[in-house]
Amino acid sequence: MTDERRRIPGVDRVLATPEVAQLLDRYPRDLVVESLRQVLDEARGSLAQGDRAGADAAGGAPGAPGDAAAAEALLPEALARRVQALVEARSAPTLRTVINATGVILHTNLGRSPLSQDAVRAMVETGRSYSNLEFDLDEGVRGSRYDHCRGLLRELTGAEDALVVNNAAGALILALDTAAAGQGVVVSRGELIEIGGGFRIPEIVERAGTTLVEVGTTNRTRLDDYRAALDVKPGAVLKVHRSNFRVSGFTEEVPVGVLSRFCAEHALPLVYDLGSGLMLDLRVDGLPNEPTVASAVASGADLVLFSGDKLLGGPQAGLIVGGAEWIQKLRKNPLCRALRVDKVTLAGLEATIRTYRDPEAARSRIPVLRMIHESSDSVRERAERLSEALAPVAQAAGGRVELVAGHSVVGGGTLPDGEIATWRVAIDPGSLSVDALQRRLRFGPTSVVARTEDNRVLIDLRTVDPSEEEDLVRALRDCWPQGD
Ligand SMILES: *Cc1c(COP(=O)(O)O)cnc(C)c1O
Repeated sequence: MTDERRRIPGVDRVLATPEVAQLLDRYPRDLVVESLRQVLDEARGSLAQGDRAGADAAGGAPGAPGDAAAAEALLPEALARRVQALVEARSAPTLRTVINATGVILHTNLGRSPLSQDAVRAMVETGRSYSNLEFDLDEGVRGSRYDHCRGLLRELTGAEDALVVNNAAGALILALDTAAAGQGVVVSRGELIEIGGGFRIPEIVERAGTTLVEVGTTNRTRLDDYRAALDVKPGAVLKVHRSNFRVSGFTEEVPVGVLSRFCAEHALPLVYDLGSGLMLDLRVDGLPNEPTVASAVASGADLVLFSGDKLLGGPQAGLIVGGAEWIQKLRKNPLCRALRVDKVTLAGLEATIRTYRDPEAARSRIPVLRMIHESSDSVRERAERLSEALAPVAQAAGGRVELVAGHSVVGGGTLPDGEIATWRVAIDPGSLSVDALQRRLRFGPTSVVARTEDNRVLIDLRTVDPSEEEDLVRALRDCWPQGD
């Protein structure tokens, strides 16, 4: 047994191999040495186990079953290759890019909206240098980070003022705390929703230091229900856009415009959680009407809240637009400091919002809008090309590739019934199982996430940028063993 272990080279010998010497040029020495020790420990461990198994099987004849492959695995070069793999795995970032072939445009698990080139450029430039984040270049005095994006948001939404914080959940807590701390917040029972990721309206209302005052029923809430709640002297009324599901049938709700007049009459602030920051009408068949930010502002709500990374198509942020007095109060709330947004985010957000000055440019330059508006014919053409490129490899493995009509969805808790006609490439992987194909797609050098349906892997190119197609084809083809 000890003889066997002596066959394992020492740390110094493996360190001296050209492979490991190269690693030392590129990676921290401690990481390389630590990985090398681990590889040698593992080799010793597996030898000890092999010895035991061998001893049992061969009645104690040491070395007898130790075949050539096992011996080869202990050569310094082989060990060095394992060290290299380990060092590379340990150095890879945990947050990596993936190709989203699911057809879900705002996929929260995959990072919601990819950013426009303009946004990325602005983020890179602002990230690598100093900026006038809180410095007034005109006067040479201290400025405010909250001034960035402010003018653009006022211009494009028609609101008196605007404020950007970390995300919409934070924006809601800030708004409720500012408008109604220690008081009641009136919400329709039809709007006590969960958005996902632990965001439930009743819990957020409690956490904001306010008390939930439920009115109406799940399917019907009338103005009289809100009026009856005045008895408890609430501090604010909250309207929540049911962004991720729809109620239909025997339903009734109070339109925001009516609710805002009611609130104004009773000097109550109306907070409108809009969810998705749609800035333009979506011109796509099959998508339900979603209120735009400008229409929400025009309806008279005091504060309108929405996300930066949903339909707006920018980085993660919570945007608040509304009356100047209320926005000023939010800005002065100490909670605002805790929710403060980063300079890189502000840079990306400003570039994204600026694009909306030209609606056509926004539809073509902002990735989520471009994906929503791509025609099904165009997706089909791309799908045909992909299908042709894959068919031979899949067929060689006894599989099959075909185009099937289907629907992409907007996702991200927006437009619940919103389906966009699309064409998908359906892959029956033949000798490779669907699970194995999915695993290889996720673990390859380019990670691909796709859906499985009816024992086939479905690729929807609507959510794949044309610039990613080449990598996607390669990733898919590499999943099958390339024999002859
Ligand atoms: C998505 C959503 C939120 C949460 O937004 P984040 O930016 O993810 O914090 C809040 N309210 C509604 C109605 C939403 O749809």
